[in-house]
Amino acid sequence: MQTHEIRRRFLDHFVKAGHTEVPSASLILDDPNLLFVNAGMVQFVPFFLGQETPPYDAATSVQKCVRTLDIENVGITTRHNTFFQMAGNFSFGAYFKREAIRHAWSLLTSSVDDGGYGFDPERLWVTVYLDDDEARELWKEEAGIPDERIQSRGMADNYWSMGVPGPCGPCSEIYYDRGPEYGRAGGPEADEDRYLEIWNLVFMQNERGLGSGKDSFEILGPLPKKNIDTGMGVERVAFLLQGVDNVYETDLVRPVITRAEELSGRTYGTDHEADVRFRVIADHARTAVMLIADGVNPGNEGRGYVLRRLLRRIIRSAKLLGAEKPSMGEFVTVVSDTMSPSYPELATDFERILAVAVGEETAFLRTIAAGSKMFEAEAEQVKAAGKKVFGGNEAFVLHDTYGFPIDLTLEMAAEAGLDVDEDGFRSLMAEQRKRAKEDAQARKHAHADLKVYKEFVDRGPTEFTGFNELVSEAHVLA
Ligand code: ATP
Ligand code: MG
Ligand code: MG
Ligand code: MG
Repeated sequence: MQTHEIRRRFLDHFVKAGHTEVPSASLILDDPNLLFVNAGMVQFVPFFLGQETPPYDAATSVQKCVRTLDIENVGITTRHNTFFQMAGNFSFGAYFKREAIRHAWSLLTSSVDDGGYGFDPERLWVTVYLDDDEARELWKEEAGIPDERIQSRGMADNYWSMGVPGPCGPCSEIYYDRGPEYGRAGGPEADEDRYLEIWNLVFMQNERGLGSGKDSFEILGPLPKKNIDTGMGVERVAFLLQGVDNVYETDLVRPVITRAEELSGRTYGTDHEADVRFRVIADHARTAVMLIADGVNPGNEGRGYVLRRLLRRIIRSAKLLGAEKPSMGEFVTVVSDTMSPSYPELATDFERILAVAVGEETAFLRTIAAGSKMFEAEAEQVKAAGKKVFGGNEAFVLHDTYGFPIDLTLEMAAEAGLDVDEDGFRSLMAEQRKRAKEDAQARKHAHADLKVYKEFVDRGPTEFTGFNELVSEAHVLA
């Protein structure tokens, strides 16, 4: 089943059950604390907080999401994209746990002919929060899941909260068992690669209070209106329904890998390290295109910096795979062709998106060319002195002044028959990061609106990672 169809079926299922279909919000909201929209519920926050009255009591959407927190996972795990689509159903007091469980289960397990996804119910597992016996019972009643396939998990995984005071409540997640060839038996608690998380149901039922200490968690009592917020990963469902190995090989991502194979002359699926690079290219190209479409331009801080980092990782990966010519334009074209049936703005705005991405590539290639000159001069000196190690300090200068990625330095050093003092490089990087952190800290104390910052911190272990990411991303250029 194609990804486009998976989206459509989700929306149809919930519209049929009385939900209003709401379009995706932009990835960029006017909220300095949120780097990018990273969950379906973000556009409904004012309704959940009771600040605004929703024009409907139940809604469904497929939200564009970007999670930079997952950047290091890309290409390595089977399940993390930086851009993905989160399908969700939301109830603003209209229904609660029982119906949320029933709706999710029927979409997942109804036959393909009946408009569902046709998952084998025997392969589905669920998790519930520790003391949420109600959810456990409902899964048995509504879905007939045996007790052995219901696992209890603690606060970190299965409890959601937003703001203090603010709504909170237990979650319940649905996992698909990919089979013994993918890992250990024992459910999601044992192995999150074999058991793939596909859907998170959040039951907003209580009001959270401030408590005493910083990390204290106090439940004041039940919310006057109980809400439902769910998120299903469209790419993860696609990966399972298409019988491929990971989220990078689905119909909307794999075509970029194919183009990268053509441009590099390498074959995907023959070498682990190369495969990671192929997946990084495919994943990041899609994210970059979606970000540019929503108005982000490459820059040196915040959102622009994330985009720049994604684009540079694509260029670097393509180069390391052996692509000789600039390839950005090719990747952007493939992404636009595959994604525009769901996002027509990619076609109508194609020329602008292409120009932004290719402009960054041109500038970065110039940087690399300048850095290469310095590298070669230094490598000559090292060799002339009869040494075998390219200095950590020089690698750091290349990185810091020329924006020259360390793995490119490593690669070129290897070609020149040299080692690189990586420890020296890393300790200089660590020092620089520490300095930058102290600077950021000093700046924050100097002008930050502490109220805004506190609200962010109070959002706690939810997905609202915007500000943290903003600070940390700015100092990590891999
Ligand atoms: P994981 O534990 O796998 O990182 P999560 O618990 O962080 O996922 P949630 O915040 O519960 O994910 O998001 C709801 C759903 O969105 C997940 O169940 C999953 O299907 C999907 N999802 C989350 N992160 C990603 C991602 N990086 N790429 C693709 N799909 C994702
Ligand atoms: Mg995650
Ligand atoms: Mg999870
Ligand atoms: Mg989850």
